[in-house]
Amino acid sequence: MKFMKLETPKLPQAAIAAFAQDAYGLSGSFTTLASERDLNFRITPATGAPVVFKISNAHEPRSMVDLEIAALEHIARTDPGLPVPRVVHARDGAAITGFQLPGGESHLVHVLSWLAGDIIADARLGESQLFDLGQMAARLGRSLRGFFHPAAGGRGLIWDNAESPGLLSFVHHLPAAEQSLAREVLEGFRDHTLPGLKRLRSQVIHGDVHSCNALVNAEGKVSGIIDFGDLVHGALIQDLSNLIADFLTRDGPNDAVIAALAAGYRSITALEDEELAALGRLIEVRLMQTPVINAARQADGVQLEGYLLDFGSRVLPVIAQLRAMGPDHVKRLVSGAASARAAANGDVSALFARRQRVMGSKPLLFYNPPIHMVRGEGVWLHDAQGRTYLDCYNNVPHVGHCHPRVADAIARQARKLNTNTRYLTDEAIEYAERLTATADPSLSAVIYVNSGSEANDIAWRMAKAWTGRSGGLCMDYAYHGITDAVDAFSPSNTPGNRLQPHMRALPPPDDYRGPHRRGEAGLAGKYVKLGAAAISDLGKTNWGVAAAMIDSAFMTNGMIEAPAGYVQGIAAAVREAGGLFIADEVQSGFGRMGSAMWGHQHHGVTPDFITIGKPAGNGHPVGIIMTRPEILDHFTKESFFFSTFGGNNVSCAAGLAVLDIIRDEDLIARAARTGAALKAGLKGLMAKHSLIGDVRGTGLALGIELVLDRVTLEPAKNEAKRLPGLVRDEGVLIGGEGILGNILKIRPPLAFKEEHVEIVVGAIDRAMARV
Ligand code: PMP
Repeated sequence: MKFMKLETPKLPQAAIAAFAQDAYGLSGSFTTLASERDLNFRITPATGAPVVFKISNAHEPRSMVDLEIAALEHIARTDPGLPVPRVVHARDGAAITGFQLPGGESHLVHVLSWLAGDIIADARLGESQLFDLGQMAARLGRSLRGFFHPAAGGRGLIWDNAESPGLLSFVHHLPAAEQSLAREVLEGFRDHTLPGLKRLRSQVIHGDVHSCNALVNAEGKVSGIIDFGDLVHGALIQDLSNLIADFLTRDGPNDAVIAALAAGYRSITALEDEELAALGRLIEVRLMQTPVINAARQADGVQLEGYLLDFGSRVLPVIAQLRAMGPDHVKRLVSGAASARAAANGDVSALFARRQRVMGSKPLLFYNPPIHMVRGEGVWLHDAQGRTYLDCYNNVPHVGHCHPRVADAIARQARKLNTNTRYLTDEAIEYAERLTATADPSLSAVIYVNSGSEANDIAWRMAKAWTGRSGGLCMDYAYHGITDAVDAFSPSNTPGNRLQPHMRALPPPDDYRGPHRRGEAGLAGKYVKLGAAAISDLGKTNWGVAAAMIDSAFMTNGMIEAPAGYVQGIAAAVREAGGLFIADEVQSGFGRMGSAMWGHQHHGVTPDFITIGKPAGNGHPVGIIMTRPEILDHFTKESFFFSTFGGNNVSCAAGLAVLDIIRDEDLIARAARTGAALKAGLKGLMAKHSLIGDVRGTGLALGIELVLDRVTLEPAKNEAKRLPGLVRDEGVLIGGEGILGNILKIRPPLAFKEEHVEIVVGAIDRAMARV
C-alpha cells in the first residue's frame, strides 16, 4: 500500500518562484495550500486569475500526473459547465513540466485554474446544497464515463475503498476499544462487498469526493469539486458512498443528509439494485478507513494535518447510528430519494394550493410545511423530496405500509370477484368465522360496514333497538367518528367539547392528572364511582341508558392506563342500568395493546358490541360490528339493513391477509415486547428532560405528557404543539393528543421492531433539546 508516509516536498521558495516565472510566466503572491502528499501553492498574480501551482511528491510517477491532466481535459470536453479545475499550460504548451533541484531530486509540476469558493470542510450544508453536491458528483461520474487511462488501474491507493482490506494489518494501531469494530467492518467489506464490487458499473472515478475537496461560493452555492489526485478505476457508486460517509455527523440529522445527497445524485444517474445494496457497507468502510489510516500514520511518527485528525471521534458513533437503523436503512433512504427533486420542491406548495381549491380552505394537514407522501413500506414513509420518515403515528397500516401480502391479496381478489353480501361469498363468511374465533363465543354475529364511524353508528342503532332507550355515555373528550349519531359520542369534535342532551360524559380514569392519582388505594373503584354517577343521572332521564361506548386504548384521553377493574366496573354499572356496552376497538384492536387481540380483553370485559375499523384492512376500508346473534336478529327484524360495500370480497381478502400476517409474524407478542422497550426508552428521557411529566400507555399505544412543572402539572401546550414538527425534522412521525393538547402520541404500525426504538428515542431526545 502506497503513501503510508506523507512526504510533502520541502523546496526553497525562491527556486519555485523562479521556475513559475520561467516556465509559465507566473508571478504574484504565493499561498501554501494543504495537501497530503504534494506541495501546492495558490499564486495570485497582480493581474489575471489565480492558479494552483502543484509540485508533486518526488515519488509520484509521471503517469499519475498525466492521468489527472487527461481526466480534467476530458471533463472540459464532455461537461464543459462542470466546475472543476482547468489545466493551465506552460509557455511551451506542455501540460506537465519538471522541476529539478540542485541536489538532483526532481519533481513534476502542473498548474490548474483556481476555483472560486471556500472549501466546505466542517461547514454544515443545507439540504439544497447537499442536493447540488450530490448532483455534481453524479455529473462528474457521467463526464468520465468514456474516459480511459492505463494508469487508473491498480493504483493501490490507501483511500481507495477496494484497497481497504489491506488496512487490516494496521488495525492494531487503533485504541484497543475500537479494534474489534474496525476489524468487523473491514473484514465484512472484504468478505461480503468486495467480491460483488467488481460486478458493479466501473470506470475512472474521482475517488475522493468529500467536504475538503468541494467548494461553496459566497452565495452559498456549491461551486466546484477539486483534487483529482485520487482518480482510480473503480465502482461508480463509490463517489456517492464516499460523499455520504463524509457528511454524516455524530448528531445528525443524517437521514436528511443521505436523502438529499442521494436525491441530487439520482437526479442525474439512476442507481442499480446491486449498487444500492452495496452502499451501506461502502459507507461504513469509508468511515473506518480514516481512523485506521490516521492511527497507522501516527504510529509511524507522521504529524497529521488538522483536517484529518478530527475524523476519529465521529466515525464510531456514526457507524453505531447506522447499524441501529438496520442493514437496509441506507438503501431504503437512497432508493426513496426522489430523482426529480427540483419538481418536488415546488410541488408541495403547488399541491397545497390545488388541494385547497377542491378540498376546502381549512388545511387539516399535519405539519407546516405539509409532507407530500409518495411511498410507504413497513414502518417507513417516503416523501416527494426523497426524505424518509419512521412512521410512529399511523395505526391504519397495522402490519406495515403496503405489506406485500395484503397488496397481493387485494390485487388477486380484485381480478377474480368483487361483489356484495347479497350473494353467498366465500371471503365474507371465512373472514367472519376467523374474526369471531378471536372474541368471546357470545359475540358470534358479524356485520360488515366500511369505517369505524359506521361500525359505531350501527352498534348504537342496534343498542337503541335492543334496549328501547336513547341515552348514551362516552368518555369526556372521546372520539368515535363522524356520523351524526356518533358525533354525539365525540365531544372532542366540538369546540368546548359540548355534549348533546341525550349524552353523559364519563370522567376519564386519569391517574396522572385526574382527581385520583397513581398510588392511591382503590383507584378503579373511585373512578367507577364517578362514572356511575353519570350513568345513574342518565338513567333518570326520559332517554334512559341505551349504551356506553369506550375506546379501550383511551387514545384521545392521552393513552391513559385505566386501572385494572375500571372498564369492568363501568360495563357492569351500565348493564345494571339496563344499557349495553360497546367496546370501540378501532384504535385498540388487532393486538395494539400487546396483551391480547382486543383491548377489551386486556381490560377483562366481555362487551355487547365490538366495533372495528382502521387497522382491519391495513388501509383498505373495512368496518365491522361483532355482537350477540339475538341483538342482530332483533335489529334486522325491526329495520332493513344492507351496506353496499360492507363485506365486499376485496375488503374481506385484505382483512384475511391482515389476520394471517398478525399470526405469522407474531405481531401481538411483538407489540408487547417493542412497546415495553419503547416505553422504557422514553422513560429514560425523563432524567434529561424535565418537560416530560409522564410516559404511559400499553403495547404500541404510548403517550408522553408534557408539563412545565412536575409538581403543579402545568401543561406544556406550546412545546407539545411544536414538538411533532421538530421530531418530523429528525425523520420520525408522531402526533399530539389530549384535551389540554399537551400529550405526544406514539402509535406506530405493528411492523415496528426493537431496532427502531433507538431511532424514535434519539429523535425525540434531540427535538426536545431544541424545543
Ligand atoms: N373510533 C375511534 C376510537 C377512532 O379512533 C376512530 C378514528 N380515528 C373512529 C372510531 C372512526 O373511524 P373512521 O375514521 O374509520 O370512521
